Amino acid sequence: MSSTLPGLVIAVDGTSGSGKSSTSRGVADRLGLRYLDTGAMYRAMTWWMLSHAVDAHDASAVAAHVGDPVIVSGTDPLAPMITLDGKDVSEEIRSEAVNGCVSPVATVPEVRARLIALQRAVIADALDGAGIVVEGRDIGTAVWPDAELKVFVTADPAARAARRALEEGGSDAAAVRASLESRDRIDSTQGGLAVPDGAVHVDTTPYSLDEVIDQVVALAKGVAERARS
Ligand code: C5P
Repeated sequence: MSSTLPGLVIAVDGTSGSGKSSTSRGVADRLGLRYLDTGAMYRAMTWWMLSHAVDAHDASAVAAHVGDPVIVSGTDPLAPMITLDGKDVSEEIRSEAVNGCVSPVATVPEVRARLIALQRAVIADALDGAGIVVEGRDIGTAVWPDAELKVFVTADPAARAARRALEEGGSDAAAVRASLESRDRIDSTQGGLAVPDGAVHVDTTPYSLDEVIDQVVALAKGVAERARS
């Protein structure tokens, strides 16, 4: 499908399990845009540290290796993939081991600087073509503050844990909720999670995925129309 909105950057920030990823992919697919999952990049960096025996809780050890992993992100919303040193690590980055260490790794300034630079390069590349939906925690604040549309997605904690547990093949919802809340605490105090200026807040709790996608697509079309007029 060709893009209806060339050159548009849509920043989708929010907490884990809020429906951010499915919404971002659905919006990109409906509008013919590329899609970038920045969380997957922090996860790949974390997986590299774990698989090279670097202590993920030791910020200086992590910083010393920050330039070593070769991380390449695919941008197809229908088949998101990420490679680490040439190998597809889409499964490894969703492991419990990575869930437990990704937030501390993501607070290391050298990690954020390197990954933000990579993210900006992917976005700039997409702007030569159709535009892109970028999801994360700091897209509208730090990565691309000039995004034409900024959305901040939330859902109540019980709904988030239930969705994540389902995605993870029926894991225990209470354990999933504890893991999400622990990551939220680190992300919003020392990490990059913040509501961008001018963001539209979407609380997905009462809506189906299709309804949330409809809301964001309508917002994007409104932005594109205003830009044309
Ligand atoms: O979105 P996801 O849950 O896969 O992100 C994993 C972790 O990566 C987050 O909990 C956060 O610590 C980090 N992250 C970040 N900045 C982003 C995206 C993710 O710090 N833009």
